[in-house]
Amino acid sequence: MKDTGSQVLIALAGNPNCGKTTLFNALTGSRQHVGNYPGITVEKKEGSYSLNGNLLRLVDLPGTYSLTAYSLEELVARDFLVQERPQVVIDIVDASNLERNLYLTVQLLELGIPIVVALNMMDAAESRGIEIDVSELSRRLQVPVIPTVARTGMGKVGLMEAAAGVATAKQAWTPLHISYGPDIDPVLDRMEREIKDAGFLTDILPPRWTALKYLEDDEQVIGKGKETDPELSARLESMSAQVTDHLGKTLDTYPEAIIADHRYGFISALLKDGVMRQSRKADRLYMSDQIDRVVTNRFLGPLIMLLILYLVYQFTFKYSEVPVELLESGFSALGSYAETTLPEGPLKSLIISGIIDGVGGVLGFVPLILFMFFAIALLEDTGYLARVAYMLDRVFRTFGLHGSSVMSFIISGGIAGGCAVPGVMAARTLRSSKERLATILTAPFMNCGAKLPVFAMLIAAFFPARHAQIMLLLTLLSWAAALLLAKLIRVTILRGPSTPFLLELPPYRLPTFKGLLIHTWERTWQYIKKAGTIILAISILFWALMFFPALPEEKKHPFDAKRQAVLAQVPPEHLPAFTEGTGEPAFTGAESLRERLADIDRDASQAALRYSYAGRMGTGLEKITQWAGFDWRTNVALLSGFAAKELIISTMGTAYSLGQTDEEENRSLSDRLAGDPQWNPLKAFAVIVFIMLYAPCFATVVCIIKESGAWKWGLFSMVFNTAVAFFLSVLVFQAGHWMGLGG
Ligand code: GDP
Ligand code: MG
Repeated sequence: MKDTGSQVLIALAGNPNCGKTTLFNALTGSRQHVGNYPGITVEKKEGSYSLNGNLLRLVDLPGTYSLTAYSLEELVARDFLVQERPQVVIDIVDASNLERNLYLTVQLLELGIPIVVALNMMDAAESRGIEIDVSELSRRLQVPVIPTVARTGMGKVGLMEAAAGVATAKQAWTPLHISYGPDIDPVLDRMEREIKDAGFLTDILPPRWTALKYLEDDEQVIGKGKETDPELSARLESMSAQVTDHLGKTLDTYPEAIIADHRYGFISALLKDGVMRQSRKADRLYMSDQIDRVVTNRFLGPLIMLLILYLVYQFTFKYSEVPVELLESGFSALGSYAETTLPEGPLKSLIISGIIDGVGGVLGFVPLILFMFFAIALLEDTGYLARVAYMLDRVFRTFGLHGSSVMSFIISGGIAGGCAVPGVMAARTLRSSKERLATILTAPFMNCGAKLPVFAMLIAAFFPARHAQIMLLLTLLSWAAALLLAKLIRVTILRGPSTPFLLELPPYRLPTFKGLLIHTWERTWQYIKKAGTIILAISILFWALMFFPALPEEKKHPFDAKRQAVLAQVPPEHLPAFTEGTGEPAFTGAESLRERLADIDRDASQAALRYSYAGRMGTGLEKITQWAGFDWRTNVALLSGFAAKELIISTMGTAYSLGQTDEEENRSLSDRLAGDPQWNPLKAFAVIVFIMLYAPCFATVVCIIKESGAWKWGLFSMVFNTAVAFFLSVLVFQAGHWMGLGG
């Protein structure tokens, strides 16, 4: 609903960490709810505030530094302002960091939307000796400026009164006009005229603003131009290209940089003549700067960063072990209860292997996600994450990624052992959508905790003397694959420039524990709500693929006959005790008869697996997979690995008619493969390469879909990763053969 006249709509805008959420909470209290902007993962918080009996509607926009579509958050914030046209925007600025925060204010003014400035964190500004002449600032900006301290609620009533005043005045949008200097101004004027004449977007946007977006290379605006008026858009693009070219040749710079310079120039003029003063000169070197001297030091910085990243990793995976194990033992108790109470049949298998395991699988990720988000919220809120991004930016930028991508990689298993589900979610800290997507798509190449036991099993079988070296090699290989494939993705399907790293480092801040907990819980709950149900549904589907169709009677018959033959050798007086398994019947040979029965059971499971849909797929795929040396047993194990990589070993165990007792199973499978003429070190290595790179498990795929907001990226990761994995494992296998390695 647009402006109904009766209800005032107020948007809260501001840089990340300016205290927007704190202020929003102080204003709305419990009268709020969290949703999402349609189709994407950006949070949308709405609430209301009652002023003199009138209910004002408040929306907390995502934190942004600019209004140019460099990131999803910026796009969402801008679309909201332009489409919903709130009567007033409360622009929250961090008074202790005024210059940088006013950058967004200037852009709001250029858009022309009516604003009220909340000069937040006045307490922090004071303690740093910053003095602000509020009334002069307000006069210069020509908008109300209200000092606030969101943490204590100071100033909030005055703020809402000022906002309501602006809203009821119903001013038309009046855009601010900034000069961008001799190179840009003339072109900007020409572009503005063309846009006005053509009436392009003029019903919702000031023409000069649209022209600026062309110069800033704003994909969304340019895309709209191409759609609605291709000729005009082509002319605007060529004007913009000319300036870009000219600036590059003459000043070795580009329009965005000049534009940013002039905005900062405008801001420093605003603050001149004592509007902002730093009284205590000695405090000039803030504590932040002091900390940064050590923490981003050229030599010490990377060491401290490695240590902190390692601690985050440890925290996420070690501390979550206790709740994970509790959950696991809870679910396995539930499973064995069902095992003993339910009657044999498909329903029993569905409940145990489909539902209980499925729900357990969904909830098993929860502690990981919870701990990961807590650690990241801590790094984010204190301001350290910005330092990590700053230090790693140059390296990661080479591969089309961002310094913050490192968090996703580490959590997905960059140190060896991790999980891509929280890893994919950790990419939320990235602001540019292309870099974020490239990170999400490549993080699953890391060696997660579920791939490791498979590697360990294969290494024990074929490279027993080189365990450590091979593991190190695999870790390096997965980093190389992730970075190179990210580069490939960024120069092809996700082509585009890296986000300019214009920003300074935000000051360090001590976050509140409550704030951290709220952040963490909100994000975790989203996972349970949105990904959980789908993951459960698909895990049931997988169970069905491995269970159906069941062996027909005539194929079960031979196994029953063999069982009968074994039972016939049991002395009749021991038979009841033997079949029921109560107490060990005391007759010679009982042990070996029992083993023979177990062997028959394993053979029956193997036959059932081969007969199932999954088994048939595995057999059918042999024609293709033989190029990499995989037979149906390997194929079916890899298929089950798509359900969860943990299942690769147990499925392979069934496919090779081995038992199901965890520890031993690993050993016996290892021994079995080592002695199998169809296996050799070359094939094992091809399988390892494949497992390292092929489709992420579907829980990760679901998260990729949820985090990117599009099905196609989930599908892409399955197809692309499997194609890459297959290509490389064929390469390894064939090249190895050609060199005479392997049997
Ligand atoms: P957002 O990213 O803009 O939503 O920022 P938050 O509301 O999460 O606040 C970031 C941090 O600043 C939190 O640790 C808040 O407790 C703190 N904070 C918010 N407002 C104030 C304030 O007025 N003064 C001080 N000293 N801290 C504040
Ligand atoms: Mg917030």
